[in-house]
This record gives sequence, structure tokens and C-alpha cells, in this order.
Amino acid sequence: MKPDSREQKPRVGRVKEITSLSNPIIKDIRALGLKKNRDRSGRFMAEGLKLIIDAVDLGWQIDTLIYAASARTNPAIETIAARTVAQGGLVLVVSEKVLGAITRRDNPQMVCGLFAQQYTDLGAFTPVAEQTYVALDRVRDPGNLGTIIRTADAAGASGIILVGDSTDPYSLETIRATMGSIFAMPIARTDSAGFLAWKRDTGAFVVGTHLAGAEDYRSIDYTGKASVLLMGNEQAGLPATLADACDALALIPQAGRADSLNLAVATGIMLFEARRHQLELRR
Ligand code: SAM
Repeated sequence: MKPDSREQKPRVGRVKEITSLSNPIIKDIRALGLKKNRDRSGRFMAEGLKLIIDAVDLGWQIDTLIYAASARTNPAIETIAARTVAQGGLVLVVSEKVLGAITRRDNPQMVCGLFAQQYTDLGAFTPVAEQTYVALDRVRDPGNLGTIIRTADAAGASGIILVGDSTDPYSLETIRATMGSIFAMPIARTDSAGFLAWKRDTGAFVVGTHLAGAEDYRSIDYTGKASVLLMGNEQAGLPATLADACDALALIPQAGRADSLNLAVATGIMLFEARRHQLELRR
């Protein structure tokens, strides 16, 4: 049988030099600052050479690599640019003015990459003993979400579940706060009903966190369980529909005058406590 020539031909990308902010490719990249444009293109931007190399090492494919013309002699950039072209991606060599406009920074990183957004189907999260997932109810703040993704990665969590109308995990602010963990932490999206159905189907041990929680967070035993830490919205906390379905409601006792902890801080405390029961954390 004659081989399909389209399949045989390797995809080869292109390299372009751009210095003008009015170039349509640059306009499209700048437009990714808006969620509606990110949703339409399905892409997002990450900044920094190390982070981009790590992403590629984890199997992510670069759609577009953008770097400052002044950095072109850097061998690591040359290597990643060659790899991008070989995989059919676009390489843009741009002026620092263009890089500053794309990243909205006065002192931009020398390298940025555009990647395709990835969501994991919630059904693919099949919690098993000694795993911990983080579920976030309507998380609003991009910095909180990015910090939680980073912390979940550091704690060895298995995935993030965004429940309800959440801030975009692929906004530049969230991506910056993840410090690269966006490439390591699978993310699923669902609504409250979908989350509760998934809990029923998987039998996961769901620990809600609540200021009216009945259990001190240190008294919950996660050993041998497939656990999910369910965290409430920054303003409203957990709604009764979710809180009532939890297997335990945990409180982190506080001293002082603060009403509550910051969501990302509370998630970090819960995560490391759960993981302490499950695995020896590496030093
Ligand atoms: N006004 C909200 C309330 O009444 O729940 C405060 C929400 S708090 C800023 C955001 C989330 O962080 C909470 O829903 C909960 O998941 C978690 N959280 C914050 N402080 C906590 C604490 N001391 N114990 C347990 N969870 C806490």
C-alpha cells in the first residue's frame, strides 16, 4: 500500500523576526490577556526559559516560542528553538519592546512559550489509597489558584478539581503563581452536581474545610484513604450542598483576630497534614 505522504512528512515549523507591535501575530498573542480570547484559541502563555524546558521535558509541546533577539546566542534557547521548529511550532525572535508588551512587564523574561490548554476529564481521576486531590469551590483569585497548584505539586497531590465557576487556571497571573507547576498538576473542571456524582462513583474520602468544622484538622486520619480536600470560596466559604456531603468537616484552629485564613494558606496546611499521614515527604 502506498504510504500516506502527509503522514510521512515531518511537520516543520517556522522562524520569524518581529519588531513591530502592530504585527498581527503579536496582536493575537497580546489578545491572550483576555479570557474570551484564551478560550477561543485554547492557548496560554508561560514565561521563563527553565519553566519552558521543564514543560517540554514533561511532554508538553510548544505551540509558539518567543524570545528576545538579544538572547539568540544562548545555547539553551537555540536548543529549545530547534526543538520547537522540529515539532512544527512557530519561533518568534522579537525586540525587547515586543516582549515587554506581550508579557506586560518592564523587565520581561527573555523567553516565553505558548502552549495548548489541557484539562483532564474528571472521570479520569480515579483516586486510590494514599492519593490526595484538591477540590476548589468557585475559587476567584488567580494568585490563590496558582499558589494552590504549586503547593499541591510540592505536596505530591494527584490533581486539582475546579468546582463551579472558577477563575481561569490559564490566565497569566495564575500561571505566574504556579511557578511551572501548571505543567505537572492535572486539572479537571465540573459543577457541584458533577463533583458529588464523582464522589459517589469513586467512593473518595472527602474532607471539607469549614469555619464551623466539627473536627480539628489534625485529628483526621487519612491513612490508606483516597482523599479529597474540599476548599470553599474566598468570600462565601463552602455551600451547604457541598458541606453536607463531606465525610468530615475540618477546622484549622486559629488564635488572634483574623476571621479566617487565606484560601491558599488553608489549602497548604490541609495538604501537608494529609500527605504527612500518607507518605514520607522527601526532605
Ligand atoms: N467568609 C468565609 C467563610 O465564612 O467561610 C471565609 C472563607 S475562607 C477565606 C476560604 C476558605 O479557606 C474556606 O472556605 C475554607 O475552605 C478555608 N479556610 C480558611 N480558614 C479556615 C480555617 N480556619 N479552618 C478551615 N478552613 C479554613
